[in-house]
Amino acid sequence: GQCITHCPTGALRERDDVMRVYDALADPDVTTIVQIAPSVRTSWAEHWGLSDEKATIQHMVAALRPMGFDYIVNTDFSADLTIMEEGTELLEHMRRNANGGSGFPMFTSCCPGWVRFVKAHYPELVDDVSTSKSPQQMFGAVVKSYYAEMLGIDPHKIFSLSIMPCVAKKAECAYPNMNDACGDPDVDCVLTVREVSRMLRADHVDVANLEPEPFDEPLGYGTGAGIIFGATGGVMEAALRTAYHIVTGKVPKDDMFDEVRGLRGWKEATFDMDGTKVRVAVASGLQNAKDLCDAIVSGEVSYDFVEVMACPGGCVGGGGQPIHDGEELAGPRGKVLYGLDRVAKYRNSYENPDIVRCYKEYFGEPLSERAEKLLHTDQHGWMMPAEWIRQAEEAPAAGE
Ligand code: SF4
Repeated sequence: GQCITHCPTGALRERDDVMRVYDALADPDVTTIVQIAPSVRTSWAEHWGLSDEKATIQHMVAALRPMGFDYIVNTDFSADLTIMEEGTELLEHMRRNANGGSGFPMFTSCCPGWVRFVKAHYPELVDDVSTSKSPQQMFGAVVKSYYAEMLGIDPHKIFSLSIMPCVAKKAECAYPNMNDACGDPDVDCVLTVREVSRMLRADHVDVANLEPEPFDEPLGYGTGAGIIFGATGGVMEAALRTAYHIVTGKVPKDDMFDEVRGLRGWKEATFDMDGTKVRVAVASGLQNAKDLCDAIVSGEVSYDFVEVMACPGGCVGGGGQPIHDGEELAGPRGKVLYGLDRVAKYRNSYENPDIVRCYKEYFGEPLSERAEKLLHTDQHGWMMPAEWIRQAEEAPAAGE
């Protein structure tokens, strides 16, 4: 009991949702759409000890297909969408600060463990947390609007599921400020990698002998920038690539923002975008987040953009990933993501053909009225109840 209520990331609030998924799969009136998060591609088959070549994301699609999901889509796509919105928002935030704004940096919002933490401990910073929904929530919102229209399905009959490295994502999808235009949740249910692994075993899927299969189209494609979301510093690097393009009109040179990579708990760098200086910091683990926020609030340090991930190493080290006693796998899993980014056909979110199509056909442009309505949220729309804050304050910070 104590641990469950005290865990600031929600990672100890584990709940098994497998039966809800089987129920949805068995209901002929329901269309099941499942999205798979970036970091899951490095870890989903660890239970079977397969080589990287036999355990790609396309093999995972093939493993899920016979279970009866109607559509299998790629959260990397909505990671790219998040970057389009958040990169544009960052430039607005910097403009506001140049004209007497809060003076605080803009903080990323894709990690619910961090968002809960900032709401509990640093309410004065909540106005500076990006309003962009996380990739999980953005995909859910797209699935129940644009995608539903395209497929001619009633959004009320969609069961929107995500496979995540994270237990806090189960709480995120249930927040009242994470609903679609009709007031339904963007995402109905979240499974961790461990739950999916249990389902594959229960269904006797022959995981070692799968023929790779592609994601369902459209909206199946994610760039290298979307893939690296799963590692600490990845969101920052992805956002900088697109912000650079917006500011300079140029294509960023390969790996020009790689200073923000690596497992150090608090990293910082300054980049020059043709005369616009962008000062950034990246933290993973909540003790590092606390040190960073204290330094920001006291004025000891000053940045334009800050990425925080609650789990040390980012989602590759997430609380819903497979657990191997005594082994820390955030580093090797992160390397796989950067390897996939290196060989990706497109490495910048703004180049993603599915993203280009999605803005052309549906959203218009980043921060448009429709994008604000579906892809953004009011960070004050759900605040931590006072009792939870008191309990969180009495508990030691995670990620130390
Ligand atoms: Fe979830 Fe951890 Fe990733 Fe945050 S860093 S989204 S808590 S897995």
